[in-house]
Amino acid sequence: MGELSGTVALVTGGGSGIGAASARRLAGLGARVAVLDLDEGAARAVADEVGGLALAGDVTEPATLPDAVARVEAEFGRLDVAHLNAGIGGGQTGVDASLDVAAYRRLVGVNVDHVVYGTCAAVPALRRGGGGTIVVTASLAGLTPMPADPLYTLSKHAVVGYVRAAGAALAAEGIRLCALCPGFADTRLLGPAREQLTGAGFPLLTPEQVADAVAAMLAEAEPGSAWIVQPGREPAPYRFRGLP
Ligand code: NAD
Repeated sequence: MGELSGTVALVTGGGSGIGAASARRLAGLGARVAVLDLDEGAARAVADEVGGLALAGDVTEPATLPDAVARVEAEFGRLDVAHLNAGIGGGQTGVDASLDVAAYRRLVGVNVDHVVYGTCAAVPALRRGGGGTIVVTASLAGLTPMPADPLYTLSKHAVVGYVRAAGAALAAEGIRLCALCPGFADTRLLGPAREQLTGAGFPLLTPEQVADAVAAMLAEAEPGSAWIVQPGREPAPYRFRGLP
């Protein structure tokens, strides 16, 4: 019996990288897992591997997460953990007339809107079950600027701010909303930056190390907290400084 046996989890962006590793870890701990991804084949492959439910959908659509939560409750009877993890890189400077507005809207749709839609969809289900946890995959770029990608930095700071504020409000109901803030992890998202990072001797996290942090957060994260995950260090909550 794993420590999550009897629980049900939903992982967005679960077809690849950190989401796939999280889905495997949650299933390994005993949860029944639903894997949602834009890439239906990838969602199905991971869901089949963990004996879970595959869901295809675009998290930027307002109906996707409510529909997914309804499917999960219909299939498994409850929801205990939502890992809102799907995300994309920014890939442009975002500071002058070269702004690609469609790409910017897409970035905000996946990295920010999805977290709001997902939280709004998950909270009623968590309430029905008497509480639970929402882990949002933000990034170290949600705590400190990443000059190479200002719009990604913007999107991840936005979700960390949302988690801190909404996390405080939800805590009284036994619902933990918290943010996972990994450094660079070896996934598809890095694209060509992977070679630059590894060429410069920069250590990358494995998706499994990030999934370790998800497990640690489920065991002990405070509501509204943001956990840093860096190579060679234990995952730990970030100490925010308050106003002077
Ligand atoms: P990844 O590209 O391997 O996985 C992202 C998954 O999200 C993919 O399976 C993709 O199909 C899915 N996805 C993308 N857009 C979607 C949409 N509109 N609807 C549904 N699914 C969609 O990358 P990853 O590194 O595993 O990224 C997971 C999360 O981790 C992201 O939020 C990312 O910002 C964050 N993150 C990544 C790193 C890193 O260095 N890789 C570091 C910190 C945070």
